[in-house]
Formats: sequence, C-alpha cells, structure tokens
Amino acid sequence: MENQTKRRFSVREVREDFPALRQLVYNKNLIYFDNGATSQKPQRVIDAIDRFYTKENANIHRGVHYLSQKATDHYEEARTFIANYLNAKHTHEIIFTKGTTDSINLVAFSFGELLSAGDEILISAMEHHSNIVPWQLLCERKKCVLKVVPINSKGELIMEEFDRLLSEKTKLVAITHISNTLGTINPVREIINKAHSKGARVLLDGAQSIQHLKIDVQELGCDFYAFSGHKVFGPTGIGVLYGKEAILEKMPPYQGGGDMIAKVTFEKTTYNELPLKFEAGTPHIAGGICLAEAFRYLDQFNIQDIENYEAELVNYAQDLLSTFEDIEPVGTARQKASVVSFNIEGIHPFDLGTLLDKQGIAVRTGHHCTQPLMDFFKIPGTVRASFAFYNTKEEIDYFIEAVQKSVQLLK
Ligand SMILES: *Cc1c(COP(=O)(O)O)cnc(C)c1O
Repeated sequence: MENQTKRRFSVREVREDFPALRQLVYNKNLIYFDNGATSQKPQRVIDAIDRFYTKENANIHRGVHYLSQKATDHYEEARTFIANYLNAKHTHEIIFTKGTTDSINLVAFSFGELLSAGDEILISAMEHHSNIVPWQLLCERKKCVLKVVPINSKGELIMEEFDRLLSEKTKLVAITHISNTLGTINPVREIINKAHSKGARVLLDGAQSIQHLKIDVQELGCDFYAFSGHKVFGPTGIGVLYGKEAILEKMPPYQGGGDMIAKVTFEKTTYNELPLKFEAGTPHIAGGICLAEAFRYLDQFNIQDIENYEAELVNYAQDLLSTFEDIEPVGTARQKASVVSFNIEGIHPFDLGTLLDKQGIAVRTGHHCTQPLMDFFKIPGTVRASFAFYNTKEEIDYFIEAVQKSVQLLK
C-alpha cells in the first residue's frame, strides 16, 4: 500500500466530503469539535449504507441465493480490507464486534476464562470506563486482582510505577493507546515489550488512536487492539477486536448462537473456526461493509499528513488557550494528540459548554467516561474540544472568540 500514490491532503477538499459539516445550528455554521465522542461520516460511507440497503441486503454465511452470496462476499472483503489496513497477519484475526466496549468485554470474558484466582490485570489511571468495568467484573468472577498504574499531574503514565506493578503475576496489561480525556499518547511500544518480557499479554484500547495514527498491529506487537467504527468515520454499532491467532484459538466463545457453531447436538456442540467462533448471531452486516468503506476513504491519504495536520491544530488551540487568564489545562503530556481539555477557574464546564453550543460549537463537557481521572485531578469535569482532520484553524479562532465571550458572560 505504501507505494500507491496517495491523495494530497487538503482540508478544504476534505471538508467537501463530509456533508454534516455544511449545516447551520442556531443559524450559525456548525463547528464540530466533539470528534472524541464520535466522528462525522464522509459521503462515500453514507452512500455505501444506502447502496447496501437498496441493493444488497440479505443475511450472510447461509443463503445459496445471489444476494446472500453478494452480501457475504462484501462482508468478508470488508474484513480483509480492515485486516490489511491494520497489517494483521491473518484476516481471521479481525473479529467484528459492536465497538470498543464490546471488544473489551469479549476479551474480559473469554480471555478471562483462562485466568485463575490471584492473576493480575494491569490498567492505568486514565482509562475509559469501558476499559475499567469489564476488568472489575472479571476480577469478581475469577478472583483476579486489578492494579492501576498512576499518572503524574501532566497526565502521563508514571513508568517507574508501571515497572513496579508489572510482575510474573500480571496476565494482561489493558491500556489506552491515546487518552480520550487528556490526549496523552502512551508509550505503548515500551509497555508491550516490558509486558511480554514478563509473559503478560497486552490489549490496546485503540478507540482514540485508530483515526489519528498509522496502526500496524504486527509492528506494535500488541496481542489485542480494540476500536469503534463510529470514531473512525464509520457507522455506529460496529467495531473491531484484533487478536493474535494463537491467543484467539485458545479462548472459549464469548456468546452462543447461530454462525459461531460447527455442529450442534443436544449432547455436545462444537464451535466454528476463527473469526466466526466469536461472532454469534446475525452480525451488523451493513456496519462491517461500511466500516471498510471508511477505511478505504482514509487509506487514500498518507496518515502521516493527517497526524501532522492534527498536531498543528492541537498546538494552535493550546497556544491560544494558554493566553487566557484563569485557564486550567487538563492533560499537558509531551506526547499528545487531537484533544484539548480545560477548565476556566470559577466556571462550571457545563455552563461554558452550553454557551458554546448556542454559538454553533459542539464540544463535550463532563467526565468523558473517566470518573477516576476526574477524581485524580479533583475536578467535576472538563470542557473538551477534540479535533479531526476536517477541522480548521479558522474554526479554532472562532472557538477562542466564543470562549472569550462566554467567559465574560459567566464571570
Ligand atoms: C469512546 C471510547 C471507548 C468506548 O467506545 P464505544 O464506542 O462507546 O464502545 C473506549 N475507550 C476510549 C478511549 C474511548 O474514547
């Protein structure tokens, strides 16, 4: 793929591809800075959804008829495209799920079945609830022990503490690649190497990295990589769990039902091969196909161009925000991507978010599904602007003005 000529990155042209960006809210141009929560969709993904339901809809893996074959082919081509995009060694290492949450729950249940009392799971203090609670459920079920790597005041992992907590008892390190609240990019290569040296497996929560960085699962060496389609310009209700073949082979099924079986009798049921062993029931067929369409869209570009452009946006926003008097930035890691989280002293994030909304600006306010992280910083929440490659510096200028106006009103 490297040698293909890539499309030159131009934010003006990219914006044309995303119809949702062209709308007015409250009679103002929409400024969509809530990409950490979900991304907008390019026209070709919207068209693919339309095409599927107009012309291709049928159930897969079962029918002999034309439409069923066609839908099956497209669904499996989608899996192959995504496997190649991630540079997975095998296509059957790509399991379609409902999203990051579902992917992590699958691992927590199924990999969890292989664990015993006293085994340890290591997470970090900046995890999303969906990379905390499934492990707590596992620990209750199997009497495993959950350990948490602390962070410093910039929102970076304290690696000395990671080294101290990692031991032969650690069976899994489950860590976010990029924090959705802080934007911190974690040193995942170092984490993976160290974890492997102790015999532990590593799950990366890729919900915030898949859309911003080049992801090569073999180069990273992670054992699992989980993400959601809707945050990478694809539909909701579809996501991926990548897992290394050898580990997935050892794991028991997560859910039972159609498609995941080889043979069913009342005495004994045998299970299907990977990846279908983990895909019980009719899957989100349109979702899988249209997620691949989102990756085809992204794959036109050199991801490095996107990374560079987004880094410019974050630096630009941070520099402008730092000129505010009572600004309290949350998350100032040296390695950061696409998120600016902050508070303004004396102003509740929700109030600021509400006034920004009235000016057409979509930001997220609150705890961002990271309550323990809010407790660490002793704040109720933050205002979070999270960028995608279709955002512009002009939008940031307007946002900064809007923050200024709102602060004057609220103080
Ligand atoms: C959004 C997010 C999740 C959860 O994703 P869902 O799509 O809600 O399943 C998990 N981790 C991180 C870091 C996220 O940003």
